[in-house]
Amino acid sequence: MEQPSLKQIWQAILGEAELTMSKANFTTWFKNSFIHGYEDDVLTIGVPNGFTRAWFESKFSKEISQIFHKITGNKPQEVKYIIKLKPQENTPIKEAFLSDDNLTTPASVAEPTIKITDKITDKPVDSAYNQACLAAGLNPRYNFDSFIVGKHNELAHAACWAAVRKPGEAYNPLFIYGGVGLGKTHLLQAIGHELIKAGKKVLYVTSEKFTNDYVEAVYHGQANSFKSLYRNVDLLLVDDIQFMAGKDGTQQEFFHTFDQLHRANKQIVITSDRPPRSMKAVEARLITRFEWGMVADISQPDLETRIAILNTKCQQKQFPLEPEILEYIATNINNNVRELEGALNRIMGFCQFHNQQPSLTITQQVLKDFFASIQANNLSTPQKIIEAVANFYNINVSDLLGSSRKRELVGPRQIAMYLLRIKVNASFPAIGQEMGGRDHTTAMHACSKIEKDLLTDNKLKQDLEQISQSITSTY
Ligand code: ADP
Ligand code: MG
Repeated sequence: MEQPSLKQIWQAILGEAELTMSKANFTTWFKNSFIHGYEDDVLTIGVPNGFTRAWFESKFSKEISQIFHKITGNKPQEVKYIIKLKPQENTPIKEAFLSDDNLTTPASVAEPTIKITDKITDKPVDSAYNQACLAAGLNPRYNFDSFIVGKHNELAHAACWAAVRKPGEAYNPLFIYGGVGLGKTHLLQAIGHELIKAGKKVLYVTSEKFTNDYVEAVYHGQANSFKSLYRNVDLLLVDDIQFMAGKDGTQQEFFHTFDQLHRANKQIVITSDRPPRSMKAVEARLITRFEWGMVADISQPDLETRIAILNTKCQQKQFPLEPEILEYIATNINNNVRELEGALNRIMGFCQFHNQQPSLTITQQVLKDFFASIQANNLSTPQKIIEAVANFYNINVSDLLGSSRKRELVGPRQIAMYLLRIKVNASFPAIGQEMGGRDHTTAMHACSKIEKDLLTDNKLKQDLEQISQSITSTY
């Protein structure tokens, strides 16, 4: 096996960084940064500007140094930064996908982890197709060929194929929901690839991009060009619709976009972290429409599927692993395909750098800290619970902890108290304390009320499941 380049080491660092921060942060700070060199125990990182340098210096130098040490065995004595443009690469399609326009999408955030050995992207593809993918905002990696089907996603997968075969007819809209890192974006974009091949006009956006485009268009008095962009497609793919919550103007615009496309039998596919009914601060008429077609969920893959996913990814990367190693990794990572990929990249980087064959012992050594950091991420803390509840109900943490007795606050407040009880086993006085200094009897009352309501209220049960899932999804 060949020595990995500094670029590959940087990719391992990216993999780690992705796990510890939000996508927005990750994109902002890492998109144009790279390892410039390593000499005399000094690691030099190239950054695009002074802001980025300051951020790295204050927030991430130590981590970079540690990860570099873990992967290469060399411990940098110093991490330095120079302001320099990232060198151009000779793979135009991948570079093009990293252009600024596309960097706001999760797809392009995931892009830096692509390995040079990733065979899927090496397929020769004709340039008209490339151009169309680029214009549509699609990541070349996210196609059906590279998507592994298991029990946890077979319904969503089948529904996506139905939309490909009969766009605008079979299921319109198609609404796919599920937790973070489970393949929603991948599947959504796979539909886009197929319909581009069929000569259709495709547009992929995150709901944040839709929102930003809309706000900008209104600001610059260009509402018409916004409308003509979004209303003249054969397939509109909207990722992470939950982020449209609370944005009334955007929702209104989306409502009209949706109706116009739907009336013209154009296919709409939407993803979300939760089912339509559990969406808060989203107009009722939109929620109704989300349920017009097909709603399909993606759940967490079971152990066998996780092993199969890992195995397939190993083959794609031409980096075979023994079954016992696959099982070891899949047993320790149980809720997220993105983390499975992260683990694989980590072990691959290590073995290539040290020119070693992967073994169970090496895997255990290399992944020890990785597993620990995932566990720490997944651990419920009072703060995470409170934030998750506030987030789910689209209210401020300060209102949740405050004294207002408004109905839309009292319910979520009781739910937060109940979750503090069952997730971190907090005592009633501690719950009262966490929840803005309330009395322990208030906490007791809240917990018994929710327990009682849960016996009959299925909607509440569903909401609690969604919130619990979001507590362990920290991206
Ligand atoms: P989500 O949008 O649900 O957060 P993504 O689609 O971004 O998840 O998936 C996270 C990563 O895991 C991506 O790199 C994706 O390619 C990979 N992935 C997820 N599910 C599968 C699958 N069933 N087969 C192959 N890769 C998958
Ligand atoms: Mg996604």
